[in-house]
Amino acid sequence: MLFRLLLCCLLALPALSFAQAPTATLLRPAAVFDGQELHPGWAVLVEGQKITAAGPAAQLAAPAGARTVELPGLTLLPGLIEGHSHLLLHPYNETAWADQVLLEPLALRVARATVHAQRTLLAGFTTTRDLGTEGAGYADVGLKQAIDEGIIPGPRLLVATRALVATGSYGPHLAAVEDLPQGAQEADGVDNLVRAVREQIGHGADVVKVYADYRWGLGGAPEPTYSLEELTLIVQTARSAGRGVVAHASTAEGMRRATLAGVETIEHGDGGTPEVFKLMKAHGVALCPTVAASDAISRYKGWKKGQGPDPQRILDKHRAVQAARQAGVTLAMGGDVGVFPHGDNALEMELLVQDYGFTPLEVLRQATSGNARIFHLADRGRVAAGLLADLVAVAGDPTQQVQALRQVRLVMKGGVLYRQP
Ligand SMILES: [Zn+2]
Repeated sequence: MLFRLLLCCLLALPALSFAQAPTATLLRPAAVFDGQELHPGWAVLVEGQKITAAGPAAQLAAPAGARTVELPGLTLLPGLIEGHSHLLLHPYNETAWADQVLLEPLALRVARATVHAQRTLLAGFTTTRDLGTEGAGYADVGLKQAIDEGIIPGPRLLVATRALVATGSYGPHLAAVEDLPQGAQEADGVDNLVRAVREQIGHGADVVKVYADYRWGLGGAPEPTYSLEELTLIVQTARSAGRGVVAHASTAEGMRRATLAGVETIEHGDGGTPEVFKLMKAHGVALCPTVAASDAISRYKGWKKGQGPDPQRILDKHRAVQAARQAGVTLAMGGDVGVFPHGDNALEMELLVQDYGFTPLEVLRQATSGNARIFHLADRGRVAAGLLADLVAVAGDPTQQVQALRQVRLVMKGGVLYRQP
């Protein structure tokens, strides 16, 4: 018994070492992507939790006692920023969304989420904007705390907590059952909405997520939910508390109202028209297209890419993304991961390059300096002195080959190595 206890303790040790105190580290890759451009022959010095120097290797001297990590053939880049995740969800082809919300115990969902967090980090995503617990209450706030305190490995989190939906517009739905638990917080009208926004912020929401449209009742096509007045009130209440608002919207009218109300990003955007994208551009609203979620859901429904016609969902997404690009709308990189496996976050970037005509450099900028700017994260997203030492090294050159993002060899967060060659 004692032996088994000791063995348990020994097995637990590697996890504890994640929290070890960082030291000065000189990283010497083949090249550095700084969030904008590739710099062959650069090195990066990390001291404590921050980057203290980045530049040509010959000009960078390591302080006495620093460890040097040679990374031949690797490209060092800023820790990637996932723009749209649900750590409390797992893929819908494993368990349908409604069954996760209604049938899975909270402890099971949280236990899974700890594994999801680790997979996300080890895949090179050192920050994620987690957009709703889908019925798991404020579990994302506790998850974030566990990561920040070094109890479990995971990315830095921006959390949305419960998210806001208009009564009757979300799910799960069973026609014969009243008062079914919902995947988000129902709130409507002036008093109720102000209170709900403040409640969520009080419980730890870094951003407020609102569903500007959804499939009302038992399915069918999405329709707008909140009025422009309600959306404006949500944005004003959140903004007064220093929080931005992100809107789920896939109808042109839902997107139009969310844009006029002053949200910062619109998620999905499938039904966006050229006029709506023009409006988004004029108001500085970014689109997070989540092409990977559309891809995954279509595959779960039997679609085999390249065999037979593309489903309407995929055709809509292509049309919307092209219209957004033509209008000059800023794109955030976020895949709605959770619909597909955590740790597979790079899928969004791969699809944007392979199917949607973006260059690897464009999507790399989106996932680093771009997302950092859109999410107001001035301390990360680039490789530069003074920023957080959130760094990833991949084999090859991801500015030329997006598949290099699957070859993660090193992950550092806040100066601490979580993965190394
Ligand atoms: Zn989502």
